[in-house]
Amino acid sequence: MENRSWVRALGEPLPAADGRPPLVPGPVDTALTVPPRTPVDEERYALLRDLVADGEVVVLTGAGMSTASGIPDYRGPDGQRRVQPMQHAEFAGSSQARRRYWARAFSGWERFAAARPNVAHRAVAALEQLGVVTGVITQNVDGLHQEAGARSVLELHGSLARVQCLDCGEPYQRDQVHDWLVEANPGFGALVQDGAEVRPDGDIVVPEELVARFRAPRCLVCDGDALKPDVVFFGGSVDRALVDTAYEMVDGAGTLLVLGSSLRVMSGYRFVRRAARDGIPVAVVTRGATRGWAETTVQVDSLLQDVLPRLVDDLMALQDQPRDAGAPDPW
Ligand SMILES: [Zn+2]
Repeated sequence: MENRSWVRALGEPLPAADGRPPLVPGPVDTALTVPPRTPVDEERYALLRDLVADGEVVVLTGAGMSTASGIPDYRGPDGQRRVQPMQHAEFAGSSQARRRYWARAFSGWERFAAARPNVAHRAVAALEQLGVVTGVITQNVDGLHQEAGARSVLELHGSLARVQCLDCGEPYQRDQVHDWLVEANPGFGALVQDGAEVRPDGDIVVPEELVARFRAPRCLVCDGDALKPDVVFFGGSVDRALVDTAYEMVDGAGTLLVLGSSLRVMSGYRFVRRAARDGIPVAVVTRGATRGWAETTVQVDSLLQDVLPRLVDDLMALQDQPRDAGAPDPW
């Protein structure tokens, strides 16, 4: 398995032999976030590999990409929605909602920020380096694709690393805002239970009586209390220019490769519909049923960690193969 050096060099553990998903160093037990493992369907895998080998692959990723990094999906390993995500209208319309958000986000930030890319993120970056992936559209806000080395990443739902004032537009770095909150809320972190669950948007559950004591961040420019992480909350709208850019990426794709998404949210599903409409093959690697089954050319219903490293190995081997002597010279 010498081709795995791209994985090993980065200190990534290989999948455990006992059938559990690969555990990566992180803040949360991934047994709580990663769905059960299933064997890889060989026929479907071969179809997937051939599509990807043809190149010009645009990747669309969802929450399933980051579960092995300890960041849970809203729906959990069983596909059931477990937590109610923050709604945009609620956040924008109420100081109390913003205070609750920031109290939770403050408490979860250090653990969220400590999450590291997993083997699937590294495989996507490797596929880009191999020249078969031309771009990544992600619905995730954790920055882990870029941290793994992917370069052409479009963050459809923004990034938790940035903050913006809803009133005057002033931008901030999240780390800076976090430092203010640490200063303004001495001892607050210690009040929150250690084992509390980190949510997909980086917050954790905090009792209401603690929320009431929390001092939320204020804008240095306009002194308002409308600082918002630069992410699209549920019920919020994705920036039109970003959507147009994503459509252009899909329009130029040889294959749209969906990774770790059940496509239940229209903001991702629309790209699958677009690809299918234009006759672009749609390959899906995710555990469980998806909303896009009718548009899907092939789905491998297995964990990304069991499929993507193998895909990288196979494509590296293909690229290393000497050309068939009987084939016409491409030049
Ligand atoms: Zn402001």
